[in-house]
Amino acid sequence: MTTTATLRPDCSKCFALCCTALGFTRSADFAIDKPAASACPNLAEDFSCAIHQRLRPRGFRGCTVFDCFGAGQLVSQHTFGGTSWRQNPASASAMFDVFKRVRQLHEMLWYLEEARRRTFDPGLASTAAHLAEQLAAIAQGDAATVLGADVETHHWQVRNLLMEVSEEVRASYGAEGHQTHDGGLQPGADLMGADLANRRLCGADLRGSYLIGANLAGSDLAAADLLGADLRGANLAGADLAKALYLTQPQVNAAEGDGRTLLPPELTRPDHWLRQPGTRVPG
Ligand code: SF4
Repeated sequence: MTTTATLRPDCSKCFALCCTALGFTRSADFAIDKPAASACPNLAEDFSCAIHQRLRPRGFRGCTVFDCFGAGQLVSQHTFGGTSWRQNPASASAMFDVFKRVRQLHEMLWYLEEARRRTFDPGLASTAAHLAEQLAAIAQGDAATVLGADVETHHWQVRNLLMEVSEEVRASYGAEGHQTHDGGLQPGADLMGADLANRRLCGADLRGSYLIGANLAGSDLAAADLLGADLRGANLAGADLAKALYLTQPQVNAAEGDGRTLLPPELTRPDHWLRQPGTRVPG
């Protein structure tokens, strides 16, 4: 059975698949260009990162944001039986392709689990559980099963279900007013750098919106749909996201917050939030 615990990364059981399978381009997030299916020059022989404690100052902020949703350990230990691409270089290409596909499946499983928990409709909860069973069976299958799966069809099924649950949950927070009266708060909105501090954004539909560098400090985002919203550099200091909808760890990792930011219990406070000067950590 797939649980949120199995959808969290366990790098100690992974053959550094994110540091090898994926490519990245030199940018504010990555100090170098690295083609896909090649080992990062910072990768150590034991699959650890040689600059793990200094990723941000060394220009690898993107590595601190990425989250594989537990795909890395599943593919390394289950699909490929604990034999690494270093031990068996012939398996590398398939292992990297399977990893990318399983990550997609696990991300959908993460969302489905939240939809199942948040919906008030037993029928929707049952549909979410059924879809999750199908996706988990694919993810846990052999390489041919994973690579042969019609992920795109499943993606649309999941997307439709998530939207249905979102409408239901947001309505329970009296969300109807946001889109018509609160100009700009709508799916896919360009809210880059917007000042949304100390606002009641409960039930807002911010799905796919660009909140890069936006100021959400002190705001209440209960039941705000953040599916796929770009939160890079957004200021979440003191914001209440404990009941935000479809918030994921990579989104949180990409944002800036502090010890007062409230997160859903499934998510963890990024280390870099706690290293900032003057940050107050609860407890
Ligand atoms: S810098 Fe470290 S964490 Fe980032 S890809 Fe390279 S080895 Fe992996």
